[in-house]
Parts: sequence; structure tokens; C-alpha cells
Amino acid sequence: MSVTEPQTTSSEAARRHLLSPAEDMAKLGSAARPLLRHAEGIHLFDADGRALIDGPGGMWCSQIGYGRQEMADAIASQVMALPYNSPWHSINGPAAELARRIATLTPGDLDHIFFTTGGSTAVDSALRFVQYFNNVLERPAKKKILVRYRSYHGSTELAASCSPRPQASPFDTADPKIVVLSSPDARDRPAGMSEEEHGLALAAEFERVIAREGAETLGAFIAEPVQASGGVIVPPANYFALMRAICAQHDILFIADEVVTGFGRLGHWFASEAVMGIVPDLIVFAKGVTSGYVPMGGFAISDRILARVSGEHAKGRYFSNGYTYSGHPVAAAAALANIAIFEREEILAHVRAVAPHFQAGLRALRRYRLVTDVRGAGLVGCVECAGDDDAMKQAIGARVDRHCQELGLVVRPIVNNCVLSPPLIIKRAEIDQMMDILAKAIELTEADLMAEDLW
Ligand code: PMP
Repeated sequence: MSVTEPQTTSSEAARRHLLSPAEDMAKLGSAARPLLRHAEGIHLFDADGRALIDGPGGMWCSQIGYGRQEMADAIASQVMALPYNSPWHSINGPAAELARRIATLTPGDLDHIFFTTGGSTAVDSALRFVQYFNNVLERPAKKKILVRYRSYHGSTELAASCSPRPQASPFDTADPKIVVLSSPDARDRPAGMSEEEHGLALAAEFERVIAREGAETLGAFIAEPVQASGGVIVPPANYFALMRAICAQHDILFIADEVVTGFGRLGHWFASEAVMGIVPDLIVFAKGVTSGYVPMGGFAISDRILARVSGEHAKGRYFSNGYTYSGHPVAAAAALANIAIFEREEILAHVRAVAPHFQAGLRALRRYRLVTDVRGAGLVGCVECAGDDDAMKQAIGARVDRHCQELGLVVRPIVNNCVLSPPLIIKRAEIDQMMDILAKAIELTEADLMAEDLW
């Protein structure tokens, strides 16, 4: 490209040069994505200055909402004080303080923290720790990773391979290191089976898989408390305690992927202990740690697990997983400011107070014929719409989203699942407004489908 080429508008520049993380290659450069100019509170503003409620909260990350001066100040002053340091050769104050703070927020003895640049790299790093752990313990075969169908753990090579979904992948995600268990999805529960029996059946499947593969080949089990991108799937209440006990029995590390549920989404700093009722060996976090203001992720790990491979046990081997930006001072300063806002505004208590209202509002949408299921927990939920085949499901999801956007709400569908995980600061009246818009959009979509003789 010539440097003398004329200036273009942002939309035109994006159309010509910017690849999105979900690029439709059939329409390269022609899929219209709205240009956002700014955001405030729970609202996004488009190029015409029109306000839209941010239903998905960015990508499940905008916990404290937008436009926080305190975040800007914390970021700016850290940029001026120390914008970068090499984490190989030095430490910075904000990263050390953030590790200390997070250690106070995690359950049990998960008191050591490793920082990365986002969720995928945090998952990848946790899984690399599993390899390190078993190599140091001289159990080189104990490396396979147990994952669940419909999980999403990220887009690095290994995290993507740990994310088996119904949609065909255009990548080489088949990996002999990965063993897939069923999703704890109520829609797959046989008729007549109770939720408790479903939990027991899933645990029995886990035990069968261990017997088949051999515990000596299984290094870790990784699970989201709520399978978010897979369609907001909430497991049976007894499920995690059963899975945790089986992991402990076979020395399989239990990794809770709290990239979505961490930092308040279910009304607690982490869902592991408070909601799932367990203490994992590792917790992966990202997104809400900075409320998306700057990228950051990481994992917390149990001291008991670390003790098995540290000191003389390490046999001189480093856990070298060397990110240039591990514990980046600006990201850490943003995370500390974010946590301070959570505490001052009692955001966790607020989530616990408004979540039942949010969930009741979603469940009321079951009155529509188009709505086939409603799921959720805390301030995350989804409305699943009808559709006989994938193309129809996609079209219906997109139609509801379009009507919502015209009425002032983004719901960003995952196929036919309209997802809501709004900023955690959302007020009751704003929840009502969101539900009214979604209801109207569903009515309009039903009317469209009938007018077009598609339904
Ligand atoms: N784990 C889960 C549960 C996620 O939902 C995501 C992202 N949506 C990731 C990991 C990957 O995080 P990132 O996009 O920050 O790499």
C-alpha cells in the first residue's frame, strides 16, 4: 500500500484491512459491523450517537461498565510511572500487589498467581503447567486432558483443541491428548431422569472413561462452571462435587475455567467454591479481572500442588512459560483499580440482589412459541430460539439480534441462542428495559417468519 493513499473512514479502513476474529471469508470485507465511537455505563454508542444497551457486556467482560475515570487515571499514571518491565528479570509493584489481592479472593490454598495476556493464553499456560507437573513427577504418560463437549476454552492451538463444539471446525483441532466427556446439558437428559440422576450419570461416564483410558494417562480435567459460549449451560447441582471427588481420587488436576464466571458474573469473586461447592487445583481467569479495559488473564494455583514440584522436587527444571507481557504493570494497575471499584460499590452484593430479577425476566420469555429454552445463572443467561436446521437457527438468531439492535439492545447471538451477560452494574429498571426490548424483538421475529411463510 502506498503511504500517499488518501485517508479513509474507519469503516472503509476496516473493510479493506481489518480481519475480525470471526471473519466471514465468503464475504471478505463486505460484512457490515457497526462502528462504535464511545461507551458509557451499560451503553454503547454507534457512529450516529445512538445508544444501545450492551447485552453481552462486551464479550462477557465489561463488569464495571464503561467510561470510568478512575480506570483511565490508574492506567495513565502507571504508563507514566513504569509502562513495562521484563518479568524475566524484574518485578513491578502492581503485579505483585495484584497477585496478593487475587490470592485473598480465591478459595482454599490457591495462593500463587501466574499472569498472561488473556483467557486463551491463561488456559494454555495452565495446561502447560500440567505437562510440567507430570514431567517433573516422572509420569510422562499422565498428560491427557479431559474436556466436555460444548466447552469453549480459547483460540490458542491447545485451548481450541479443548473446545469440542457441534459446529465443524475449519482447523486441525483433533488431538490425541484430548478426551471428550459429555456436556452436563439438561437438554441431553433422558426423559424421566431427575437432575440429580443426571449428575450421577455424568459422573459414572467419567469413571468409565478413566477405566478405559487408564488414570495413569489422564493429567487434568478442565471445566467452565457454566458453559458460556456453548450456550450458557448450567450443570446439575451435584455434578461438580462428584467430578471433583473423582479427580482427587485419580490425581487428575481439576482446572476451573472461570474466564467468564470469575469476577462477579455469578455474584462472587469466583464461582468455584461459592456456586460449584468445590476447591479446584487451578482457576483460570481473564475478562472481568480488568473489566476489559486492558487485556489480562492468568491462573491461580494451589500451594499444595505447587509444593509437589517446587524446591528440591523441581530437580532444577524451570516452569518456563515466558510471556513478554506476563504481569504487565499497566494491566495490573487496571485490575487493581477494577477490584477497588468492585469493593467500593459492593458490586458482588448488587449482582446477588438483581440476579433473581434478571433470571425471572428471562424465564418469562418462555411464553413465546419461538423460545424453546431459557437458561442462566447469576447475571448471565440465554434465550434459545426455534429453528429446524442450522441455517434456520442462524437466520432466526440474527433476526432477533437485528430487531433488538433497532430497538436499542445488542444480544449478539450464538447461532440461535441470544446471550445476555450485561455489565454487572445494571439496575433493575434497565433489566426490565432489556427484557421488554427482547420480548418485542421476539414478537417481531415471529411476525416476520409468519409473513414470510417460514414458520
Ligand atoms: N475460556 C472461556 C470460558 C471463555 O469464554 C473464553 C473467551 N470467551 C476464553 C477462555 C478465551 O479467552 P480470550 O478470548 O481472552 O483468549
